[in-house]
Amino acid sequence: MNDCIFCGIAEGAVPSKKIFEDDEIFAFHDIEPKAPVHFLVIPKRHIQNIMECGAGDGLLLGKLLLKARELACELGCGEGGARFVINCKADGGQTVDHLHIHVLGGRRLGWPPG
Ligand code: 5GP
Ligand code: ZN
Repeated sequence: MNDCIFCGIAEGAVPSKKIFEDDEIFAFHDIEPKAPVHFLVIPKRHIQNIMECGAGDGLLLGKLLLKARELACELGCGEGGARFVINCKADGGQTVDHLHIHVLGGRRLGWPPG
């Protein structure tokens, strides 16, 4: 049995504040927002992280990124901008092992990350 929390969210078995859904993609607000706008865009298919992706995933990755961009604009970040982040494995700070793009906006973010 798959006990991945993001698979549960994508299936609707785990509640979330959904922003968008189609047959391949699910987007929802982060439960602990780090900015006024903070949502996650995930593939419905379980992919552990970006290191697991190959050439065959190019179309899906492109769709995820373009959907993240589109939703960022819909949520008011078109003018001020936003940050699009993919954390990967321990050094990247990944805590949920299901590929996700963070979109953060609505305030000026610092750089570099800690
Ligand atoms: P990571 O650290 O893996 O890059 O990001 C995981 C993100 O998922 C974190 O920002 C965390 O707040 C969010 N998160 C973890 N569990 C849940 C959950 O059950 N629901 C929602 N909406 N977000 C979650
Ligand atoms: Zn999963």
